[in-house]
Amino acid sequence: MHVPLLIIGGGLSGLAAALRFARFIPDVLLLEKHSRVGGLNSYYYRNNRLFETGLHAITNYAAPKTKNAPLNRLLRQLKIKRKELDLHEQLSSEVRFIDQESLVFSNDISQLSTEIAVKFASSYNSFQNLLKTIEEYDPFRPAPFISAREMLLEQLNDPLLVDMLLCPLSYYGSSIENDMDLGQFVIMFRAIFMEGMFRPGGTIKDFLDLLLLHYKNHGGTIRTKASVKRILHNNKKVSGVKLENGEVISCDYLLSTIGSEETFALLGTPSPLETKARLGFVETIFELPAGTRLSESNDRTIIFYNSSKKFTYQHPEQLVDFNSGVVCLPQNFQDLPSAPTMEVRTTHLANYNEWKHLSSSRTEYESAKNTTALASLEVAEKIVGNFSQNIVYRDTFTPITIERFTAKKQGAIYGNPVKIKDGDIGYENLFLAGTDQGFLGIIGAMLSGVSIVNQHILPRL
Ligand SMILES: Cc1cc2nc3c(=O)[nH]c(=O)nc-3n(C[C@H](O)[C@H](O)[C@H](O)COP(=O)(O)OP(=O)(O)OC[C@H]3O[C@@H](n4cnc5c(N)ncnc54)[C@H](O)[C@@H]3O)c2cc1C
Repeated sequence: MHVPLLIIGGGLSGLAAALRFARFIPDVLLLEKHSRVGGLNSYYYRNNRLFETGLHAITNYAAPKTKNAPLNRLLRQLKIKRKELDLHEQLSSEVRFIDQESLVFSNDISQLSTEIAVKFASSYNSFQNLLKTIEEYDPFRPAPFISAREMLLEQLNDPLLVDMLLCPLSYYGSSIENDMDLGQFVIMFRAIFMEGMFRPGGTIKDFLDLLLLHYKNHGGTIRTKASVKRILHNNKKVSGVKLENGEVISCDYLLSTIGSEETFALLGTPSPLETKARLGFVETIFELPAGTRLSESNDRTIIFYNSSKKFTYQHPEQLVDFNSGVVCLPQNFQDLPSAPTMEVRTTHLANYNEWKHLSSSRTEYESAKNTTALASLEVAEKIVGNFSQNIVYRDTFTPITIERFTAKKQGAIYGNPVKIKDGDIGYENLFLAGTDQGFLGIIGAMLSGVSIVNQHILPRL
């Protein structure tokens, strides 16, 4: 079998790339290792219900009129109408540094500005200047690493405010410890604070089904349970792939969305990239009966919290770091259709090696998951009020779960800290898209897939 474009990975970057390409040339084949698409953002069934694996909120909300906003550009590139997604904006979110300060924000940046005027009055003017810098900065221009933390400290001159701004941006889009590259900071600041957060009215399954429907309508093909074992190449040119079942598929172009080191492993070539610590996370879903009233934070969608004196976003020494994290109330979006149940979801930084060590004993691993869920519950109850008496189901996933189901090295959601921004990994006809290109989150991953197809593949065919 031969195709002009072969894509490895049916996550959001692979799906978006495949759909974009199929609009022009239908002979594209998407290969996904699992029985379902979605990758990090997929779904599973438990307790007679569909659970979303990775959806808190989608960043980069845009009103219909803002034609150049990333979301609207993406939808145009994929020929998807906004109304097909049924967008619901967040209620409000919060950065809460317990016993220190709190900043509430929404999809209207003026709310955050007002909060800063009241709570960090002496930094208000410099915050307004920062907004101008962010609006004017081109984050896509190739540039060496510039520390966002240092720039913020210099500009805002308030370490607490700097940490409070970095906390949500790190949790929703940083693969590096305690800092961000300025370009990535600008992308995430715009995505979270200036554009804001939303979710579709349906489940992530509906969203993935919609992408698949459009893709198939354009004539594209997908094969699930099709795991690539080897990338076949000679003299920096790829000829095709070999699947786990021995089948060989040849192609003119190959797009890999599985990560940089993971791609080098399939090439059988040592990765030339510097090795840096990868960040792991644990996530717990607490399922509650629909309509359960929480005693606090009822109008919040996401709460990014920190309970220690100094916020750290780094690889923890212990199994899980509960000192900071995310508490998400996924039903708290404007006018969301009612669901059969409601959820509280929590996320914390986790240590992959410790979880890996435990996973050799099923009993110890399950016991650690249980202890983690209980500790996370305690933290969440301090933030949203008691709800343990209402829990009808609970599930926890660790870096080991993520590694098992997405083949992401060390289960690191944000992949390799070293990013390959232009998607060029030194092969004539092989490109990289998705997490390790540096665009993180759902919209980031999709934009990444589309941009690599537009820049590197379509112009050459
Ligand atoms: C718990 C959690 C919460 C999250 N919350 C949010 C959120 O609220 N908002 C947001 O915007 N983002 C969120 N994200 C992040 C977001 O899901 C990801 O950034 C995005 O989905 C990454 O897409 P991707 O295509 O780059 O990679 P992936 O999703 O990892 O896709 C790669 C695909 O390749 C497949 N694959 C791997 N190896 C092979 C092989 N050898 N052969 C064939 N296929 C292979 C994998 O199975 C996978 O499907 C969350 C993620 C998680 C895990």
